[in-house]
Amino acid sequence: MANSKKVYIAYTGGTIGMKPSNNGFIPQNGFLEQTLASFPEFNHKQMPQITIHDYAEPIDSANMSPEDWYLIAKDIEKNYHHYDGFVVLHGTDTMAYTASALSFMLEGLQKPVIITGSQIPLTQLRTDARDNIINAIYLAANYPIPEVSLFFHDHLHRGNRCTKTDADGFAAFSSPNIPPIASIGSKIKVRDHLIFKQHRTELNVQRFSSPKIAILTLFPGISAEFVSDFLAQPNLDGVVLQSYGMGNAPINNQPLIEALKEACDKGMVIVNCTQCLQGSVNMSTYETGKILIDAGVISGFDMTTEAALAKLYYLFSRDLNIELVREKMITNLRGELTI
Ligand code: ASP
Repeated sequence: MANSKKVYIAYTGGTIGMKPSNNGFIPQNGFLEQTLASFPEFNHKQMPQITIHDYAEPIDSANMSPEDWYLIAKDIEKNYHHYDGFVVLHGTDTMAYTASALSFMLEGLQKPVIITGSQIPLTQLRTDARDNIINAIYLAANYPIPEVSLFFHDHLHRGNRCTKTDADGFAAFSSPNIPPIASIGSKIKVRDHLIFKQHRTELNVQRFSSPKIAILTLFPGISAEFVSDFLAQPNLDGVVLQSYGMGNAPINNQPLIEALKEACDKGMVIVNCTQCLQGSVNMSTYETGKILIDAGVISGFDMTTEAALAKLYYLFSRDLNIELVREKMITNLRGELTI
């Protein structure tokens, strides 16, 4: 008897479905579907019924844009009531950005949306794609975790907590500030207490308008002039400031701090995220952090840069005044931060 579960697979591109060419691996329309169809596992009785949707032009995820995020979200919305879960096949390079963006865009999500990909294409002998796809499909069909998550190398991570931490290893993603929601071994272990549930229960896709958002990384020797020119870009709405340690900046560079203060006073939202992989910003710990609070910089707590960036896009795309954007930025909306 056919499995009654249904999973929708959206193939956006990435290494997973790429084909060897004289110029290295390249995405090609239809190739992934063809390859998957030849895998006996896909006819196994424990596999759900699968629909694969190839986007017109599969892309390397280095080319992903907020408009592409919207297309994926709308595609999920269109098929939402016909499937038990969704798997998005995606390149690894910007996968954590897409996972973060979708987590905010898909307001009221009550079904699993799992993003996955691979480091080696599905057609290659030592591919990691097979395990990632099969486990992602299996989880999407049988584990109704109502979140945007990211499956890679035996772990299901919350999407907006992830970052790509290995350029070529199979365990390419980590969620350094929370354990994986589920881990795969001979048994599947789900950490139920970690599952994040949205209050809203009806799906709505929030399109991102085009706010001007940027990332500014501090480094020893950064000049006040550089920071000031950076922040003076016309119509810059929000900045993720990648600071040191618990959220510290070079306060002996008074003009640099002044430039940050001036931007905040003008209504720019500057969110302080640490350059450290793990741990949280706490600007009250050192004088070098405290002065940023006085300048009007807000805390990103333990958000990844990817999540903070996506959240700025999201909040600036809703009709909120600056005070509300700042307030929501420090509020946990989708499990993206721990306060
Ligand atoms: N450049 C590829 C991409 O992000 C890398 C990958 O898929 O692993 O699309």
